[in-house]
Amino acid sequence: MERYRNIGIKLTPQRLAILNYMDGNKAHPSADTIYSAVSKKFPTMSVATVYNTLEALKNKGALQELTIEPGKKRYDPDCSPHHHLICVKCKDIIDIFKKFKLDLSDNMANGFEIKGNHIEFYGICPNCGKQL
Ligand code: ZN
Ligand code: MN
Repeated sequence: MERYRNIGIKLTPQRLAILNYMDGNKAHPSADTIYSAVSKKFPTMSVATVYNTLEALKNKGALQELTIEPGKKRYDPDCSPHHHLICVKCKDIIDIFKKFKLDLSDNMANGFEIKGNHIEFYGICPNCGKQL
């Protein structure tokens, strides 16, 4: 939890529990999933607390928000540049750490200073493939 000490938000026990749950979490959980998991330990915690904390952490750059499912944001504690492989059936999200050479011509960049990119690969995971 050392790395969260200086992120500039007040670390209440509830917020720490959310950070703990997210630390090293590779599952890209949704706010609802995070709420169900953390409220087991903090039964009085509200969904609003979870949403507000996730929003604050995102704004501080401690979490990445993924809008892969419409209306259901998913969260990733890994803010390093990486891409995602997504199962279209169960919505499983897997990290892809590979640098792709993607060039935008000046014309295509429309005057933008390009800061990064994010590729989403879609497919059917082995588990879902078995159930077809
Ligand atoms: Zn799947
Ligand atoms: Mn990821």
